[in-house]
Amino acid sequence: MSEPTRRDSRFDLPPLGSDPSSGGEGTTPGSFANPTDVGGPRAYSSPDTPGMPEPSRKTAWDFLPPSWRLEDGRCVPPQGFEPITQLEHARLGRITPEMRRAAEGEPHLSAEQIRDEVAVGRMVITANRVHLEHRLQPICIGRAARTKVNANMGASPVSSGTAAEVEKLRWAERWGADTAMDLSTGGDLDATREAVIASSRIPIGTVPIYSMIIGRRIEDLDERAILDGIEHQAKQGVDYMTVHAGVLREHLPLARRRLIGIVSRGGSLLAKWMLHHGKQNPMYTLWDDICEIMRRYDVTFSIGDGLRPGGLADATDDAQLAELETLGELTERAWRHGVQVMVEGPGHIPFDQIEYNMKLERKLCHGAPFYVLGPLVTDIFPGYDHITSCIGATAAAYHGASMLCYVTPKEHLGLPKKDDVKQGCVAYKIAAHAADVALGIAGTRDLDDELTKARAALNWQKHFELAFDSDLARAYHDEDLDVDTDFCAMCGHDWCAVRISKEIGESHQLAGKTRREMGSDQGHKANCHSDYADAEEAQHLQEEATEESHASTDS
Ligand code: SF4
Repeated sequence: MSEPTRRDSRFDLPPLGSDPSSGGEGTTPGSFANPTDVGGPRAYSSPDTPGMPEPSRKTAWDFLPPSWRLEDGRCVPPQGFEPITQLEHARLGRITPEMRRAAEGEPHLSAEQIRDEVAVGRMVITANRVHLEHRLQPICIGRAARTKVNANMGASPVSSGTAAEVEKLRWAERWGADTAMDLSTGGDLDATREAVIASSRIPIGTVPIYSMIIGRRIEDLDERAILDGIEHQAKQGVDYMTVHAGVLREHLPLARRRLIGIVSRGGSLLAKWMLHHGKQNPMYTLWDDICEIMRRYDVTFSIGDGLRPGGLADATDDAQLAELETLGELTERAWRHGVQVMVEGPGHIPFDQIEYNMKLERKLCHGAPFYVLGPLVTDIFPGYDHITSCIGATAAAYHGASMLCYVTPKEHLGLPKKDDVKQGCVAYKIAAHAADVALGIAGTRDLDDELTKARAALNWQKHFELAFDSDLARAYHDEDLDVDTDFCAMCGHDWCAVRISKEIGESHQLAGKTRREMGSDQGHKANCHSDYADAEEAQHLQEEATEESHASTDS
């Protein structure tokens, strides 16, 4: 764990959290988040704005199966008990191969810390035992880990098919998605799911109610179809499932005066079922049976938020919060069955209400990882909702979300295609990374620092290599000036602040440090710097570029 790096300052700075940079480079005083508390309820957390709910004092240890007992601080299951889920192994103090592999992706955490976080329910390892026999590389999701990103995909009745969905999955993996959800509602759902699971290195989530109503009306859905549908997908290797068990009959009147009612597909379907039959949500009444199926395959719950708001006007309303309270109860019951739990969250939330939403979940669901959909912070930019939601997602991750479900530019408008998947992934990798740096997770700023050094040295090749999207960065640079020189087309030679800063000399501490590191303090060019043009040639290049640009404008 890295320690706060307070430097002498004339200014009255807030208390500091941990340092996200391994090298302690640069001049920043460090993270303004809370000090690291891995093993405690705050893990990596933002300082609470006044009025925010405190973390719950309870954890998954308070919700052991009734037949288990605690003896001398050790967990004792009934005789002959065989652990299946990661939660059960963790409760028994065992470190599984999946915990070790998850630790490889979290250099700031040990396998022991991951086990302990899984045991308290604040972390999950979404790894179905069947999927582990394929190519799955286990990851952990929780507030002590780096923030994860999910990419939604899936064929609709009007667009796409199995091959296109597998291609989208590969694209999502290429652009950094940590998990993917197959939300197909059209085509051959079974074949698509099977192909996606067989091809994926990342965990796969589904919403099983979608396949349950293929070929039948929602009103005809019965208990047998629900349990069989869930078991079928668990057997196929689905790693986590969204089950909308928290939408209760008594919550429905609370949504009546909303501007946009119920916007979750699963939530609206189950509301229709409840109104038709005059009965409670069958996912809720079958919860214990569903838990038993999930346990057998170690499928993690992603308990669905069927009453999430669909617009700013309905955010943080009684319907949404009443359901969240029920999600807390369902979390406790799943933990009693030894099942791992994530909880899904909104949706569309004004920026000022995001912190409260994250911290209320932390309280009501005892720190179970929160998996949020955006949230969008404004409703008037269709076509740009990867941006409106990425702003909310950054705040959500800073204030407590563990996984961010991406939103693509197609949100509200159509089925995302391959390039939309890329846009959504990139936007959400930005959100997750920005939050991790702000939270002071050790080592998360290292690449930023390397890129800053390359930028300061005007080392374009290194700059491109370190960029998340190297090809795009290179293409933008080369668009106006495809030579490697001491400035770019943004300001030109005479106005390039970085070039001038390099010239200023040893009096500039950062430039001096960078020069030393790059080997340029001996009076010659940085040894990492690959510019081929000398000063005169550089000015000549600029004049040429300027003339060309004028010529193309005139024509
Ligand atoms: S020309 Fe301007 S944008 Fe380009 S490297 Fe120099 S300071 Fe940066």
